[in-house]
Amino acid sequence: MKSYGINGKTIRGLLIDLDGVLYIGSSPINGAIQYMQKIVDSGIPFRYVTNTTRMSRNSLLRNLHKMSFPAEPDWIFSAPMAARRYVMKKNVSSLFLLTGGDVRTDFEDLPLSATSGEIVVMGDPGNEVDYNTLNRGFQILMGGAELVAMQRNRYWRTEEGLVMDAGAFVAALEYASGKKATVVGKPSQEFFSLAVESIGLPKNEVAMIGDDIETDILGAHAVGLTSILVKTGKYNEEEVQRANIIPDVIIDSFPGIQKFEI
Ligand SMILES: [Mg+2]
Repeated sequence: MKSYGINGKTIRGLLIDLDGVLYIGSSPINGAIQYMQKIVDSGIPFRYVTNTTRMSRNSLLRNLHKMSFPAEPDWIFSAPMAARRYVMKKNVSSLFLLTGGDVRTDFEDLPLSATSGEIVVMGDPGNEVDYNTLNRGFQILMGGAELVAMQRNRYWRTEEGLVMDAGAFVAALEYASGKKATVVGKPSQEFFSLAVESIGLPKNEVAMIGDDIETDILGAHAVGLTSILVKTGKYNEEEVQRANIIPDVIIDSFPGIQKFEI
């Protein structure tokens, strides 16, 4: 197996969403570990592309290893890493970070401040960002800072059910400050373009596999990637019908792409 044949295109590389595609919470999707290992053994270039903003790259790596997925740091392309790249390009003298979990460690070599910033970066607030911290972000925005959103997803599925993601909090800051956030994670075109660039293939030879019709499929389609929707994770038939986009392929779950192997 060296590639996939999908709708007349030869797909030589993959962008693979994590949560909802390879696992839900800490439970791997049936057959996903074995099929990921097959992709690695076949030498098919790929990236794990995730909008998760609760885990640093190191935590994502540990999490994948814990579930027995093959993983190396360079294979992970996350929304916090995209935000990091954005901030570094701007060369700011201070940065205000609104995010939960250990995502802060992705930024610890940058000029983080607890009171000011030329850029306010918003991720999933988790349990760590309280009203006062969010309000501090608002005040910094009113003082002239730029608003960057790691992503603006509506919700995600955990083992305990659906939970609110960063989107509503980004919207809160936008509403209060009157500013529009620059989104650097999925579905921004730059995110997909950088992920494809990092595997060194032209876009027409790469497919994106995701469970989210808006962030995964719409975003991938916008930059010319082939899109594959899985019916696991946050897949919701009504949302798929409502969306202005038809995925190139819909499969029951991640290992289902083996039927396109060539
Ligand atoms: Mg997902």
